[in-house]
Amino acid sequence: MYCKKCGKEIDETATFCPACGAPVSDRSVEPVKETAPAAPVRTNQLAIVGFVLSFFVALAGLICSIIARKQCRENGEGGAGFALAGIIISIAEIVLVLFYVVIFVVVVAHLPMA
Ligand SMILES: [Zn+2]
Repeated sequence: MYCKKCGKEIDETATFCPACGAPVSDRSVEPVKETAPAAPVRTNQLAIVGFVLSFFVALAGLICSIIARKQCRENGEGGAGFALAGIIISIAEIVLVLFYVVIFVVVVAHLPMA
């Protein structure tokens, strides 16, 4: 293995680098990983709410999903996939509605005046 501090090749059994004196054993290098318990990942409730809402109220679903996605990123919570799906579905619905509105406006604008 190699010293993480100076990069010099050192003996596998060594706990300290002979060149720079830095600790090189795995135990002393990464103590945080062992002490941190593997807590079950909580699912962000807002992500599920936003996902469900996106099917019925696109704008509300979009807002909830965006907030949920931000929370998932910041808190490390699960449900980022739900939030992303909610965002995509909401945007798709809004685009579809706008598309129909545009078509409706164009059709109405071209109707002959009665
Ligand atoms: Zn070293």
